[in-house]
Amino acid sequence: MRLYNLKDHTEVVNFGQAVRQGLGREQGLFFPGTIPAFSASEIDELLKLDFVSRSAKLLSAFIGSEIASEDVLRCVRNAFQFPAPVKAVEDDIGTLELFHGPTLAFKDFGGRFMAQALVQVAANDRITILTATSGDTGAAVAHAFYHLPNIRVVILYPKGKISPLQEKLFCTLGDNIHTIAIEGDFDDCQSLVKKAFDDELLKKTIGLNSANSINISRLLAQICYYFEAFAQLNEAQRRELVISVPSGNFGDLTAGLLAKAMGLPIKRFIAATNSNDTVPRYLDSGLWQPHTTVATISNAMDVSQPNNWPRIEEIFKRENWPLTSLAHGAVSDEVTKQTVLALNQKGYLSEPHGAIAYRVLRDQLQSGEYGLFLGTAHPAKFREVVEGILGHDITLPKELAERADMTLLSHNMKSDFTVLRDFLMTLQW
Ligand SMILES: *Cc1c(COP(=O)(O)O)cnc(C)c1O
Repeated sequence: MRLYNLKDHTEVVNFGQAVRQGLGREQGLFFPGTIPAFSASEIDELLKLDFVSRSAKLLSAFIGSEIASEDVLRCVRNAFQFPAPVKAVEDDIGTLELFHGPTLAFKDFGGRFMAQALVQVAANDRITILTATSGDTGAAVAHAFYHLPNIRVVILYPKGKISPLQEKLFCTLGDNIHTIAIEGDFDDCQSLVKKAFDDELLKKTIGLNSANSINISRLLAQICYYFEAFAQLNEAQRRELVISVPSGNFGDLTAGLLAKAMGLPIKRFIAATNSNDTVPRYLDSGLWQPHTTVATISNAMDVSQPNNWPRIEEIFKRENWPLTSLAHGAVSDEVTKQTVLALNQKGYLSEPHGAIAYRVLRDQLQSGEYGLFLGTAHPAKFREVVEGILGHDITLPKELAERADMTLLSHNMKSDFTVLRDFLMTLQW
């Protein structure tokens, strides 16, 4: 597989390099040189396969001979150990539930495949993943790399500033997962990580890697669940399918557009955001004018400069699709709350991110069309917000409930780089 840097097309790498490097020169994103395309009959054949076999075929179509197809299949089988079911919400609307993985959010799909891919391409090099988290990504990364050989993970988080349940989810694992509660805020954690990456000696000695969210392996993995959703729909639902994606950094939407470019017949995509609406405003006015990020109840989408946007523009350009064909809408916190409540009255318990995607879809769906919105997180992940809206408690899924009584294994540390550096340099394999 060949990928090029969107900021400098002369930088070309293979899949292994893209996975290991993450970003190219000038912080440019990598993009596939060729998007494999399937005919309608090939798509029909793919849709008949089970989730894991089909996903391995889709990923091998991108990766090519660089990784043997049996190895890709093994990576997918290890990564995708939970389903992505479509549930009916109304006659003409369903939701693709992407939150049945170990950390109850769609990021488990991309994170777990990236972890498997990294082990595959790292040969026998030892790698230390260092990352800062305000909650969500840390949990997904920790679970994705748990027990994997030659890889250890060090996660920094602000002490006392993430929800207790969130902390239990990734600070009770042990083995190759090291968690450090920093006496400071999230910015302090991020600045410690940045200092570590600027320290060439440390970087080389411990094989530092960031495994961050712009890694191409995540996006490719996410393509697979759009096919899985389609496979579960009946013929009438497939005919005019509209998919609404709750968007923050726009990775999920990028993956959906790639699925369409590969031949999956999706009529239209909707980019749904909260009040951090840089993209909807851009699509209306043609002006890219990010505002300061505002805090909302759908906080995983509190992004005003979405880092995957250049990939989306590249897809539209390469496929000759007009950017005006991308539907869009932004939803306020007030309307998000009303929508969670309204969905609950219809018998579907949602959470703010999925509810935003539903709201824009409901408002824009035309007669004859079938709509799907992505359910990106389990309602229990946003328990405080959801319980506040509904006015009653919700039950915890077993992934959260079983960790609630476990002992935290985190180290405590001052926000001091020399202390962190010593810790990393002396950490035993
Ligand atoms: C990360 C996240 C999103 C946004 O996904 P992007 O790929 O960044 O657009 C939406 N919902 C939830 C629950 C998330 O964790």
